Amino acid sequence: MRILKGILMLTIAVCLLIAVSCIIGKDNEKTPSPGNLTDGNTAQAEGREPSPASPGQESLSPTPTASSDNQVSLTPTPAPDQKPSEPAQELNIEPVDYSAIRPNESGEIPIVMFHNFVEDLNSTNDPEFTTSFADFEKLLETLYNEGYRLISMRDFIDHNISVPAGTKPMVFTFDDGSPGQFNLIEENGKLVVNPKSAAGIMIKFSEKHPDFGIKGIFYLNMDKEEKTFEGAGTLKERLEILMSYGFEVGNHSWGHFNFSQAKNREQVYERLGRNQKRLQEIIEGASFYSLALPHGGKAPEELKDAMVQGEYEGARYFHETIMAVGSTPSVPSIHKDYNPGYVARIRSQGKVEVKFDLTYWLPNMTRDRMYISDGDPNTVVVPKGKENLIDTGKLNGKKLITY
Ligand SMILES: [Zn+2]
Repeated sequence: MRILKGILMLTIAVCLLIAVSCIIGKDNEKTPSPGNLTDGNTAQAEGREPSPASPGQESLSPTPTASSDNQVSLTPTPAPDQKPSEPAQELNIEPVDYSAIRPNESGEIPIVMFHNFVEDLNSTNDPEFTTSFADFEKLLETLYNEGYRLISMRDFIDHNISVPAGTKPMVFTFDDGSPGQFNLIEENGKLVVNPKSAAGIMIKFSEKHPDFGIKGIFYLNMDKEEKTFEGAGTLKERLEILMSYGFEVGNHSWGHFNFSQAKNREQVYERLGRNQKRLQEIIEGASFYSLALPHGGKAPEELKDAMVQGEYEGARYFHETIMAVGSTPSVPSIHKDYNPGYVARIRSQGKVEVKFDLTYWLPNMTRDRMYISDGDPNTVVVPKGKENLIDTGKLNGKKLITY
């Protein structure tokens, strides 16, 4: 198996060399989809999602490891259709001085959750789930200066983390497919990304700081059809253009369903599989491989396996990660405590700061607890004493190094 994988990686590395110019299209093959969006609706919908700060809710304990939750085994079937993420550039990685960089690849990775974006915060009554374009732009600058670099969900799952030595990986996630996240406008008869959208701002930002990365996964509700990323172009065009930048799409269920209300497996299969099916009707070969729980609602215990994989009218799904709603950074996927069935996210700040949102976390994500990269995706480097935190069964050919 390992040998096979090695061969596969080598093959891909060679292809990569040949196809340097295709970089933009590469993530395309992965997944696309739409969602729907009635503006206030979304905000409100998510507003009801359990706030970690409010007691008695779907607990995502505000403790740093979000793993105590009933482990849903994600091991069963192999992930269908997914290509392994690009192997790290195996050439050209400068050896780094560990004592100077002090990498810690057992540390935590923040996965940030965004919802709505607007020009003017006064235009919304939603206190917690809406960000202004200006604040988002400022946030990117702050994150960049604090040493965060974006990685994709695919690479988070595969622990294929390729950010410069000494920097910290971060994942962006966007729920509900609202137009402020991404939409198209027509310019000289051509469809282009609206610069007044989160994706547009990220694209612009990367001109100044290409190493920050244009990455993020958009969790979609396909029942929203043309309401998803509402604006110019068809849903198909929107998704194609979104993915052409390397952005990913994820499952957010058909109808933004609260799975804590699920009655039986058929219902779960329908809500998840139907969303998948619709995506595949629009973008051939695409599939969702990550699920974000609408309202943060977890399915009853006996239905948990159906959240991971299932089928509806011939459309199969397999979710390699199931994303929660709040409230802490996540351990990396090679960590012993990693539970792909319930992965923690941090809410971005809305109009007001709330406990455990990103504004709360930024000063609390200290060097000693966070993931600091060694710059080489093929090695897992941890300070002496932390090697026990790594699940060596997940190293997948990567070398574990302590210093
Ligand atoms: Zn949602």
